[in-house]
Amino acid sequence: MPKIWLVQNSAPSAENPINFLIQHQCPQCGAPATLNETDRLFQCAFCKVSSYLVERSYFRYLLPHNAPDNQELVYFPFWRFKGMIFSCLPSGIQNRFVDVSQQAVQSAHFPVSVGLRSQAMKLRFVSPEAAGYFIKPTLPFPQLMERFLTRFNLHLPGPILHQSHIGESVSLIYAPFYVGERIMDAVLNRPASSELAEPFELSRLPGGPANWRLRFIPTLCPNCGWDLQGGRDALVLHCKNCESMWQASKQGLSRVNVAHLPNPEDENTIYLPFWRIEAAVSGIDLNSYADLVQVANLPKAIQPEWDRIPFHFWGPAFKIRPRSFLRLTHHITISQPRNHLTARVPKGNMHPVNLPVSESVETLKLNLTGLLRPKKIVQDRIHHIQVKPRRYLLAYLPFEIRHHDLVQPTFNIAVNQNQLGLAGNL
Ligand SMILES: [Zn+2]
Ligand SMILES: [Zn+2]
Repeated sequence: MPKIWLVQNSAPSAENPINFLIQHQCPQCGAPATLNETDRLFQCAFCKVSSYLVERSYFRYLLPHNAPDNQELVYFPFWRFKGMIFSCLPSGIQNRFVDVSQQAVQSAHFPVSVGLRSQAMKLRFVSPEAAGYFIKPTLPFPQLMERFLTRFNLHLPGPILHQSHIGESVSLIYAPFYVGERIMDAVLNRPASSELAEPFELSRLPGGPANWRLRFIPTLCPNCGWDLQGGRDALVLHCKNCESMWQASKQGLSRVNVAHLPNPEDENTIYLPFWRIEAAVSGIDLNSYADLVQVANLPKAIQPEWDRIPFHFWGPAFKIRPRSFLRLTHHITISQPRNHLTARVPKGNMHPVNLPVSESVETLKLNLTGLLRPKKIVQDRIHHIQVKPRRYLLAYLPFEIRHHDLVQPTFNIAVNQNQLGLAGNL
């Protein structure tokens, strides 16, 4: 098996992540714009029209070429994953921020990864205007992730009891090449391969012209027609008129169930969003609050009515560094906020939702392993435990804005503001 993954160990990290810039044109008036790769809500600086970017499974980008005229371009696909990997080991949970790219088609003719040059370049969304032959990805992303983890895990002290990866972005990047005596890199205009022993047969790699176009949906409330609002990286948009929240789905915008813990003093408060997930757990009893007190060995005397209080998984609906992510997930799940949750959007400052529920769902089993006491149980039981999500709620909790921290006094949770601010880049 060739070594095909490049783990970009040195440059990007949680402290120093790569954030691509994307050259874009306003779909309404054609004005140029530069986007961050995390941007979803785009407001044109010229025509002021807002639109919301929607991916079909993942975004497809291309690197702009500098090839001489009359060269027929071949675009080779690479998967790119940026996110957090949590590994549950007997000694505890290890976290790691990774940013990797890798061939989406196995080929000895092309580089193994996009390489670091992509940091310095602006990308574009793939659209039918891009002339060239786009090679079709034949290695599915999950398969590559599996291979990557196999290599990654060689460096972990085993046994690995459980592992989850939370993708902050999974995308496909097409890099341009052209074919002569060698395969030429059309970004740098220099050879990407040694001299070809036999003619390169492009027809052996399935593909064709680019036939995707980025989808935009208008940012109008499907309920009342008002303009929806949100931060540029918001995954959930807010209608201030009818007080509803919306997220993009295959059918367009779909409504999100929202609740919040009211705060008498809204000044100096920010509401942080959390996903509250109800799941079916098998292999261990964890259905009620009484079960939680038992499995987590909380220092509380179980009250009879606790049997009837359902247990929910909780996790941040916002990006935050891996260590804080884990701590916060654990703390909030132990706290089980449930009293006085009001079933509507809070009034006041809200932090944008920029971690999708689909990724939060990936952490359920990890969350569970963090709860179990004594820890030794994890090793004995983990392989028998299954967690299946059933439904979710977006719940906002008020945090006091202090000098360095955001503090949730009821549950005694503090979040360092730096951990939030910098995570915006992740
Ligand atoms: Zn415009
Ligand atoms: Zn509305």
